[in-house]
Amino acid sequence: MKVKPSMVDLVPYQPGKPIEEVKRELGLDEVIKLASNENPYGCSPDVEKAILDSFKNVAVYPDGYARVLREKTAAMLQVEEDQLIFGNGSDEVILILCRSVLTPEDNIVTAAPTFPQYRHNAVIEGTEVKEVPLKNGVHDLEAMLSAIDENTKMVFVCNPNNPTGTYVNDEEFKRFIRNVPEDVIVVSDEAYIEYVTASDYPDTLPLLQDYPNLVILRTFSKAYGLASLRVGYGVAHSDLIKAVDPGREPFNTNSMAQAAAAAALDDQQFIRDCQEKNAREMKKYETFCKENDFKYFPSQANFILMDLEKPGGEIFEYLLHKGFITRNGEALGYSSSVRITLGKPAQNDKIIAELTDWLA
Ligand SMILES: *Cc1c(COP(=O)(O)O)cnc(C)c1O
Repeated sequence: MKVKPSMVDLVPYQPGKPIEEVKRELGLDEVIKLASNENPYGCSPDVEKAILDSFKNVAVYPDGYARVLREKTAAMLQVEEDQLIFGNGSDEVILILCRSVLTPEDNIVTAAPTFPQYRHNAVIEGTEVKEVPLKNGVHDLEAMLSAIDENTKMVFVCNPNNPTGTYVNDEEFKRFIRNVPEDVIVVSDEAYIEYVTASDYPDTLPLLQDYPNLVILRTFSKAYGLASLRVGYGVAHSDLIKAVDPGREPFNTNSMAQAAAAAALDDQQFIRDCQEKNAREMKKYETFCKENDFKYFPSQANFILMDLEKPGGEIFEYLLHKGFITRNGEALGYSSSVRITLGKPAQNDKIIAELTDWLA
């Protein structure tokens, strides 16, 4: 059996360690996973009923066009319904974009380190990936512009960036997209937008009017708390959506996921509460870093990457033995750092106390 050459050196996505595995290995009663930026407060209480209601149709294929969810999402964003494409997570929208647009003659431009799925899907298409190092943890948009050449088909801006939590502001993003050739697709991955509190974070939706090459990615997996159901979407000019939609599987988002996402959208108070709690908890980690002189990237997301001046693997193991699964910075390009998804207040307090104890 032979896979295509571009697949040969690829490994599957490495998810955070599963909770049950850690419990068993370490004999712990309680293990908290703060490794994948899920919402520690779960999801809106309205979601459960929506899922149970949708269960009566479990034997029937889902609505491949996701009409109800599409209407609600379009109304909320004030875009046309044909400007949306739904995916089995925004991961799948990235996949659809890559399979629809990229060939082995092309390249894409991304930051590094950033969310690994841009590279992964481009590599499968045999496409070259031009990686531009972050500058102080932030996308170096000037250098990314310079990296664009006549074979560039797509450029990815992860905003806020995973794994650093940093963002590019409105002015920087506008200057960037103004200078990107119009036949190059600009993807603004806004997976963490619900957590953003910075007033100069770019408002990209109005830019869709002027930039038919802009794709905005959003997801229900993070603040909306529906990671297990897999729903995300892209917003773009209707011509772009129409062009890539044949690259989507017919029933790619399931009925329960669609129902849950629609109910979750209706509960914006839940989102506001989570944003507020997240901002409050973020301050605790920032204070911890400042008091101990540790470097960290100021984060607009629901995670923080902190340089604790010890091998990332050691920090990871220490916290693991205390019952917290985090992300080893070594795997993210920051060898003496750890990335922690913000948990509930008591969980964050415990982590900070444990780290203070250990590092003192
Ligand atoms: C988590 C994440 C996604 C993927 O989200 P899904 O919708 O669950 O596929 C996309 N982009 C970034 C930057 C993320 O961190």
